[in-house]
Amino acid sequence: IFKGYIDGVPKETDMEVKMGSEVELEVVKGSGALLVKNLYLSCDPYMRGRMRQFYGSYIPPFVPGSVIEGFGVSRVVDSDNPNFKTGDLVTGITGWEEYSLIHKTEQLRKIQQDDIPLSYYVGLLGMPGFTAYAGFYEVCAPKKGDCVFVSAASGAVGQLVGQLAKLYGCYVVGSAGSNQKVDLLKNKFGFDEAFNYKEELDLDAALKRYFPQGIDIYFDNVGGAMLDAALTNMSLHGRIAVCGMVSEQSLSNPKGIHNLFNLISKRVRMQGFLQSDYLHLYPRFLEDVISYYKQGKIVYVEDMKDGLESAPAALVGLYAGKNVGKQVVCVAHE
Ligand code: NDP
Repeated sequence: IFKGYIDGVPKETDMEVKMGSEVELEVVKGSGALLVKNLYLSCDPYMRGRMRQFYGSYIPPFVPGSVIEGFGVSRVVDSDNPNFKTGDLVTGITGWEEYSLIHKTEQLRKIQQDDIPLSYYVGLLGMPGFTAYAGFYEVCAPKKGDCVFVSAASGAVGQLVGQLAKLYGCYVVGSAGSNQKVDLLKNKFGFDEAFNYKEELDLDAALKRYFPQGIDIYFDNVGGAMLDAALTNMSLHGRIAVCGMVSEQSLSNPKGIHNLFNLISKRVRMQGFLQSDYLHLYPRFLEDVISYYKQGKIVYVEDMKDGLESAPAALVGLYAGKNVGKQVVCVAHE
């Protein structure tokens, strides 16, 4: 349950876990609704944005006292909707609860189950994976041989951006917040180089070390000081895809960016984007990424927590970099 609007970084106490409380959920005839059993829930950084009263953005705030909602993978247990039948697996927005009554069924996608882990439908094959795909191919306008920098590179989005860029023939460097994550970037995801930004006193110097010729593409997941440092290291006609600003998201007074002049002097294109603007590409994304995955050309790392009661800590952990890979909560296996 979301308790109420917050300032600053989310805490576990901003949410309440009500175990053992029973609620009657019934699919009313004529409602078109579905009753689903939730299997996997996704923890995503954008959820912080839904915890403030005035959001003024693309998605409304959570309602205090109500069940938190987010992306999930669920099994249909009862349906009043001709498009879904009992037993179907679906992915889309659901509640952080064991069972949910879903009325907004138009946003749900059916999952054709094969040998791919079901939880990947909130990660590699879900919203974060699609963000990486649309952001890299559509916003970054990549060219073979480009020098690509990815921040929060071992996370749900970043790990796929880096791997897609490698498959495209780019030189790829990632930054992450621990040596364990740096090891994953270099030895699991195949990045050319990676560094722990928390061990760098001077981010500008770190980027100059890895990009002596400059950065052609910066896939920005964090904003703040890293964006500022990247701006001074961009190549002529470079591209910055502004995907997220997790370093600034919880600050009421972000420190500000100082190096924007580089956009002019180096004719850099900096573009914010939302994955939802590219949904027409979703079928092609699924086809491409499933094929890469099955051929062993890409891998995906998840950080799976067990049990609904672990969800608040898992969500809060995102803003401290505790997740290693895509943060998922397993509510039930089947
Ligand atoms: P991640 O799995 O990467 O998890 C968040 C990570 O952010 C943490 O693990 C941590 O990694 C890093 N982080 C947390 N706090 C800070 C901080 N203060 N400074 C720097 N890094 C921090 O999340 P996702 O891959 O799901 O999301 C990545 C970004 O993409 C987010 O900004 C998100 O909002 C954005 N996004 C945008 C979408 C769009 O349509 N534009 C859609 C989906 C996501 P580390 O330990 O490496 O610091």
